[in-house]
Amino acid sequence: MYDALHYDINIKIDLGNKILIGYVNYTIIPNEPLNIVVISASNATIQIDSIVYNRKKLNFKHNANHLYINLERFYSDTVNFKIFYKAISDFNGEFDKGGVYFDLSGDTPKIATSSQPFFTRKWIPSKDVPYDKVTADIKITVPDTLVAVSNGTLIDVTNNTDGTKTYFWSTKYPIASYLIFFAVGKYEVLEDSFTSISNATFPIQYFVFPEYIEKAKEDFNNTKKMLKFMENYFGEYPFAKEKYGIVLVPGELMMENQTITSIKEDLITGKGDVEQFLIHELAHQWFGNLVTPKSWHHLWLSEGFANYIQALYYEYYLGKKWYHYILNFYMDRDFGSYAGPLVGKSDTSFNDIFSERIYFKGAIVIHMLRKIVGDSTFLKILKTYITNPVFKYSNVTTENFIETCKQVSGKNLGWFFEQWIYTDLDSIDRPVLKFKWNKSQLKTGYKVNVNIQQLTSEIYNFTIPIELSIITNKDTLNYGIIINSQVENLDFFCEDEPQDVIIDKDNWVFKKIVN
Ligand SMILES: [Zn+2]
Repeated sequence: MYDALHYDINIKIDLGNKILIGYVNYTIIPNEPLNIVVISASNATIQIDSIVYNRKKLNFKHNANHLYINLERFYSDTVNFKIFYKAISDFNGEFDKGGVYFDLSGDTPKIATSSQPFFTRKWIPSKDVPYDKVTADIKITVPDTLVAVSNGTLIDVTNNTDGTKTYFWSTKYPIASYLIFFAVGKYEVLEDSFTSISNATFPIQYFVFPEYIEKAKEDFNNTKKMLKFMENYFGEYPFAKEKYGIVLVPGELMMENQTITSIKEDLITGKGDVEQFLIHELAHQWFGNLVTPKSWHHLWLSEGFANYIQALYYEYYLGKKWYHYILNFYMDRDFGSYAGPLVGKSDTSFNDIFSERIYFKGAIVIHMLRKIVGDSTFLKILKTYITNPVFKYSNVTTENFIETCKQVSGKNLGWFFEQWIYTDLDSIDRPVLKFKWNKSQLKTGYKVNVNIQQLTSEIYNFTIPIELSIITNKDTLNYGIIINSQVENLDFFCEDEPQDVIIDKDNWVFKKIVN
């Protein structure tokens, strides 16, 4: 085994043949003496020309989407070698596939990569796992009428003598393979800048096709507002020494590539329709890119949080009503839609990794956690987690998040996480509660009897802290109760005549209520 340290990627775009030609200079450090290096490289799209170490060609095998490189002796120190290759494209910009997409249908070529979760190997031979971050130089040679965009900082643009230009991008921040990206097109660049909470000023760059300039100016107008919101809750923008960029791309591609969010061009309308996606992708620069799930089982730590932060953003600027509107929308799906554990079942199935429950139930669980620990503890948990020096620029599991929740809140939340994250139920995704109430007049005041039945308790008996509100002519009386058995029968007393009794009036708990 080894740690991948650095990829120096050098590729030339061959538009006529829709291929990339070039090499990656691959630097690794063995964890133990190593003579065979194993690297991901798709057999369907990558053709290896040669692998060179110290001017000597190395023997290799390329099968089952892996390259097996024979170093000929054991190494225990840093090794680097060049892999010369071609990558063809078999990708047409579909949302559930990946690789390099060449859209040559319009007046000018548009090319973009999409690599999550395991498609980087289709265009770069790489250690294509989320848990081994590298630094990267990305040099892309394109016809001189086009612009190449990638991660990090643009170091240099070289005019070559053959009618091409080489764009040299570089990132010094650790980056997971799936976040490595490039796009090529006839981009115009809109420049802005942002001064972070620690007073670092970094560029904001928008790479826009000319036909979208005016609309993009409108739609990207809130980027600084979004950055301000994110920094307020989650600390400084993690890549403040480089940039934050947004690039328009063809197809169905939308991705939080590190320092450069790609947004499908037809979402740009000039009417702000793209705002919810922009805050989602920006949230990933912290939740996903800075702190990255160790494996795809833990993707809810990226997607659940990014979806949750969409609601938190609207709450921050527009108020609680909007927050609840969005969470209610997430919860208002058909019963059973989100059945299954939040820690994903599969590390390799695209559909399970990106299932709706990861995105929406993920956000709902974070929402429920907020109510249980209270607002200030909740925000402290999120900040402590996302700024933890051990997690930053590195990887996490669900257990790391849970541990943070327990430490910061001082509460044993084991039951909560067991119930909402790990329990694997394939028929239900929330408890079904049957709820009745009645009132009787006493000598002074009224008695309210509330009967709550957990109809799904035979499948799974949930523990449900929940708010109960008794509405009288004069007042609304709120009580915190805990439902944890099949039937709860509770009496309440009030002075004024009750008009109505409501369970969970603000919808903090994921459940279905029947009468
Ligand atoms: Zn996302």
